Amino acid sequence: MRIAIATPLRRCFDYLPPIGCNLSQIQPGVRVKIPFNHREEIGILLETVSQSEVPIEKLKTVIEIIDDNPLIPKEIFKLCQWAADYYHHSIGDVLFTAIPGLLRKGKFWTKAIHSSTPVDNSVPILLNTEQQHALDTINKTHQFRVFLLDGITGSGKTEVYLQAIHEKLQQQKQVLVLVPEIGLTPQTIQRFRERFSDGVIALHSGLTEKQRLHAWMLAQSNETKIIIGTRSAIFSPFANLGLIIVDEEHDLSFKQQEGFRYHARDLAVMRAHTNNIPIILGSATPALETLHNAQQQRYQHLILSERAGNAQLPEIQILDICKQPIEEGLSSPLLTEMKRHLEAGDQVMLFLNRRGFSPVLMCHACGWAATCKRCDARMTLHQQPKRLHCHHCDTRTPVPMKCGACGDKELITIGLGTERLETVLEKHFPQYAIARIDRDSTQRKGSMEKLLNSIQSGEKQILIGTQMLAKGHHFPNVTLVAIVDADGGFFSSDFRALERMGQLLLQVSGRAGRVEKKGKVIIQTHHPDHPLLHQLLHENYKTFAETLLQEREQAKLPPFTFFALFRAEALKADKAIAFLEKIKSIADSMGSSVNLLGPIPAIMPKRAGRSRMQLLMQSQQRPVLQSFLKLLLPEVEKLSLKQRVRWSLDVDPVEMF
Ligand code: ADP
Ligand code: ZN
Ligand code: ZN
Repeated sequence: MRIAIATPLRRCFDYLPPIGCNLSQIQPGVRVKIPFNHREEIGILLETVSQSEVPIEKLKTVIEIIDDNPLIPKEIFKLCQWAADYYHHSIGDVLFTAIPGLLRKGKFWTKAIHSSTPVDNSVPILLNTEQQHALDTINKTHQFRVFLLDGITGSGKTEVYLQAIHEKLQQQKQVLVLVPEIGLTPQTIQRFRERFSDGVIALHSGLTEKQRLHAWMLAQSNETKIIIGTRSAIFSPFANLGLIIVDEEHDLSFKQQEGFRYHARDLAVMRAHTNNIPIILGSATPALETLHNAQQQRYQHLILSERAGNAQLPEIQILDICKQPIEEGLSSPLLTEMKRHLEAGDQVMLFLNRRGFSPVLMCHACGWAATCKRCDARMTLHQQPKRLHCHHCDTRTPVPMKCGACGDKELITIGLGTERLETVLEKHFPQYAIARIDRDSTQRKGSMEKLLNSIQSGEKQILIGTQMLAKGHHFPNVTLVAIVDADGGFFSSDFRALERMGQLLLQVSGRAGRVEKKGKVIIQTHHPDHPLLHQLLHENYKTFAETLLQEREQAKLPPFTFFALFRAEALKADKAIAFLEKIKSIADSMGSSVNLLGPIPAIMPKRAGRSRMQLLMQSQQRPVLQSFLKLLLPEVEKLSLKQRVRWSLDVDPVEMF
C-alpha cells in the first residue's frame, strides 16, 4: 500500500496491508494508522501496488484502516495530486492541508445533520444592460469556462454573483465563493446571508475545529448549498458543485506564502476544469496574468463599465505636494477639503498604508536610526502601547532614551504612520470622532466589526486605515477619500510594485461616492506628472494595465515568461549560497533552456536573524519549466547541504522577497 503522510518530504511510503484485509475493497483516499519512526501516524492511502522498491522483509504493516469509504472525495484527491505535481510539493502535506484539522488527527466522522433548509429570499434588483448581459452569458454556460467579470468598483459585480447563484440553486446545484479575507468583509457575508439565509456557510478563521468539520460534511452531503471562504476553502468537498466564484481575484491573499505555496485562484480554475463547470473571476483591477489570459481568449471577458444604480464615479484630483507646506503629512488644500465634507455632514476616509506612529526614530545629533537587530529593517515607533516594533520579525523593544551611537538624548520621529495621523487629526478636527482601522486596532476578536458598525451608523465621521480599508467595503456616506502618500510604489524593487500600487489606488478610490452623492478623491504625491498615474486616473485601469503588460513583455517577465523561485535561508549567508550554488550546478548539468538567475540576496537580505538568498528559474514555456523542476527536485532532495538551510520552492511566486 502506497501511503502519504503529513511531511514536507517529497515522497510516499510503502506498507503491507493489515493481515486478512481484502485489498479489492479498499479505495484510495481512506485514512490508515501506521507505525512511523517509533510512533503511530495517520496516513492517507494513495494506491495499492504490487511492487515496492523496498525489500518485502523491510516493509512494515499498516496497523488499521480507519475509513470504510474514502475520506477525500475523488475530485479533491485529483485536485491535490495535480497541485502536488504542479507546485512540486509533498503530496502528503497537500492532502493534509486539504482536510479539516480534526480529521488529520484520525477522528471518526459521522454524517452531519442539518436542520434548516436553504432558503432563497431573492428579491433581485433589476440589472442594467451590462449586468444582464454578463448574467445571461454565465447562466447559459453549463460546462467549463472561465469568465473574467471586469467591473469598476460599485458596478454591481456582487449583484451579478448573487443572481448567478440564485440560478444554480434553482438547478439544485452548489456554489463555492472564494473571498480574500472574511474578517475584513463581514458586509459581504451579510449580503449573502440576507439573500440566501442559512443556506450559506462561511468558513473563516474564527470557527472551531468542530464547526469546520461540520461545514465540510454539510457541503459533502449536499446539505449546504453555498460555501464562502478564504483560500483553503478551495479544498471543500461538494456533492454537486455547479459554479465557482473568486471575488477580488487580483488579491494577494489567495496565494499561500509558506509551506504549500498554492494559488487558490489558479487551483479554482483547475477545479472548475476538472468538474467541467463555469467559474467567475471578479475584480475592478484584474491581475495582469488574468487580463493576459482574457486577451488570449482563454478567458471570456465580461465588462461592467459603469457604476450601478445612480452612483457616479468620483472626481479625482492629483495634488502636487512638492514644495507645499505640509503639516505632518497633510497639505492645506486637503485639510480645507476635509473640513468642507465634514461640515456638510458627510464622512471622510484617509488611506495610509503604514501602521504605527512613525516608521523612523532618529538621533538629531548624528543621524543614527533605530534598526532591528534581526532584520535589515528599521523599527517602527508605536505609542499605543509605547514600544519599538519590527513589522518583519515581530521583535518588540522598549523605546530607547538615548541614541544607540552617540548617546545624545534628542531622538526625533520621521515619517507618518496611522497612529500619528490619528493624533494629528484629533488636533485639527476635535469635534469629530475618528475610527482607525489597521492591524493593531483590529487585533481583538470582533473589533473590526465594531469599528465598521461605528462607521455605518455615522457615530464616527473620520476613517483612517491601511490597505484593510481597500477591500470591498461599502461605506455609503463617505464622499471624500484621500490617499495621504501615493509615492511608495514608485521605488520598490519588486517588478509587480506598480501593478499593486495601481490596484490599491483604484480600490481605495472606489470607496468614495458609492450612492447618490458624488464623491471626490484626493491623491497627495510628489510625482504628479508620472505617466502611469495619469493613465490610471484619467483614462482607466485597462490602459494602465496595457502599458504595464507591454513593459512586461519587453522585459520578458510574467505573464510572458514563467518563474520558479528557490529560496534558502541560514544563520550564515555562505550556507544558503552554497546550497543554491549546488542546485545551480546540478541544473546547469541538465542542459535545459531554463534560465537561472542567482544566487542573489533576497530583497530583504536578513530577516529574523537569518540571511536570505534566492535562485530564480525562468522559462518562456510553462511545460519546459515544469519538466525541468520534475527532474531537478529529486536531486535537490538528495543534497546533504539541505540539512543546514531552510529552503523552499515557489512556483509562480507573486512576491519576490
Ligand atoms: P461591486 O461588487 O461591483 O463593488 P455591488 O454589487 O456591491 O458592486 O453594487 C454596488 C451598489 O449598487 C450596491 O449597493 C448594490 O446593491 C447596488 N446595485 C447593484 N446593481 C444594481 C442595479 N442594477 N440597480 C441599482 N442598484 C444596484
Ligand atoms: Zn546619535
Ligand atoms: Zn526584525
